[in-house]
Amino acid sequence: GDRQVRAPIKGPEEVRQLALTLNELSAELKIQEDWRHALMEDLTHELRTPLTSMLSQLEAMIDGIYEVNVEWLQQVYDELIRLTRLMTDMERLSEAEAARFTIHIKRENMVQLAEQVYRNFLPMAKSKSIKLRFNNPNVPCYAEVDRDKLIQVVSNIVSNAVKYTNDGGTITVGVDWQPEATIIYCQDTGIGIGAQDLPYVFNRLYRVDKSRSRFSGGVGLGLSIAKALVEAHEGVIEVDSELGIGSQFRVTIPNTYKSMNHL
Ligand code: ADP
Repeated sequence: GDRQVRAPIKGPEEVRQLALTLNELSAELKIQEDWRHALMEDLTHELRTPLTSMLSQLEAMIDGIYEVNVEWLQQVYDELIRLTRLMTDMERLSEAEAARFTIHIKRENMVQLAEQVYRNFLPMAKSKSIKLRFNNPNVPCYAEVDRDKLIQVVSNIVSNAVKYTNDGGTITVGVDWQPEATIIYCQDTGIGIGAQDLPYVFNRLYRVDKSRSRFSGGVGLGLSIAKALVEAHEGVIEVDSELGIGSQFRVTIPNTYKSMNHL
């Protein structure tokens, strides 16, 4: 007998809708495939240089050309720590990309959500004598979001603000409510981002100043993770910045989640 399970189709309009949905799905799969391919290339590139250099130096030591010295061991150690962190972030980025299929949407109080992140960063800001403020819109702001994932987004942004703002600076986290969307923003008086770098800061592995970011522990994935998560909510992430003046990051999330992936 016919063991195939088929959804009943009631008319031509439904056939057309199904075809549209299938086309959208295959376009989506193609985007995912391209994305994974690009990710693999980035990763290979990022790993090859340090691994090749460590290998050749190790070989020289084994052959007795170099003497083993503690300074070099420390360098290798630091580099391995960085690569391990890169792996962890890559994993998180990969999860973030898959998030559009796994987000758990609930109606959430957006002011409470943003305020929680603000509170989490108070100790870190205090340790740098940064004034961290919270702008409460004093109106109820509700949106359908995945709470944990949005907390990660806002945390990445506020963590950067603290990282890239000098001692004594000011950071303001706040919420703006509109009938269709909620905006969470983070404004800092930090080092800012130059116009030549600004279009790329959401790209994975992009760092404005590689030496500085390496020192402060960034690998250039935080904002690309944030972007993937915001897009999983059909939202938009944007930045305005001026070198030496400061930056403002804005996350705009539609109040109602409408994606077909939700069905
Ligand atoms: P990282 O791990 O290097 O911080 P991100 O993806 O979080 O990576 O950020 C990418 C780059 O954007 C950073 O390396 C930094 O140069 C720049 N950046 C991000 N946020 C800020 C900010 N608030 N002020 C100045 N520069 C920033």
